[in-house]
Amino acid sequence: APVHLASFCGSIIDAMATVAEKKRITLHADIPEELFVEADEDKLRQILINLLSNAVSYTQDGGKVDLTVQDLQDTEGSEKVVIKVSDTGIGIPKKDQPRIFERFYRVDKGRSRSSGGTGLGLSIVKHLVDQHRGEISVDSELGIGTTFTVELPMLQE
Ligand code: ATP
Ligand code: MG
Repeated sequence: APVHLASFCGSIIDAMATVAEKKRITLHADIPEELFVEADEDKLRQILINLLSNAVSYTQDGGKVDLTVQDLQDTEGSEKVVIKVSDTGIGIPKKDQPRIFERFYRVDKGRSRSSGGTGLGLSIVKHLVDQHRGEISVDSELGIGTTFTVELPMLQE
């Protein structure tokens, strides 16, 4: 079913606000008012919550987390929705970036011990993005921050 991204993402941001506030993290969203995507709401919610909770977990107190959504015409002329979750957090070393979508993979036990995760969040995100025939990529700089980009076809054929 078509999902109205501005209201859908807005309610997710509201739900995350309490967690972010505890760390004094500024949570900001920029979503065009008129944009819809053909997606499963529960799956899309899981994608966004997993990415946003990582961004909040792996960002130090006082940092920033941004959710932006845009639409884009790809080279074949089909429309896509581009969702970016970016943070000013600890970053992911280049050598680990290819593996973070694997089940149970965590960058190192030391740095992420306090968050007590299982290493499943991103593998679930990858699986759900695949189910929507989308793509996910990561761009990260150690000590500077991380951006996850999810591209979803706006319509299902
Ligand atoms: P879970 O999500 O299952 O609770 P997790 O957060 O450790 O546990 P993933 O979400 O799959 O597992 O992430 C895998 C690893 O990638 C994390 O352990 C962390 O080291 C790294 N990572 C993920 N997102 C970020 C981010 N935004 N900034 C820095 N490192 C990240
Ligand atoms: Mg996680």
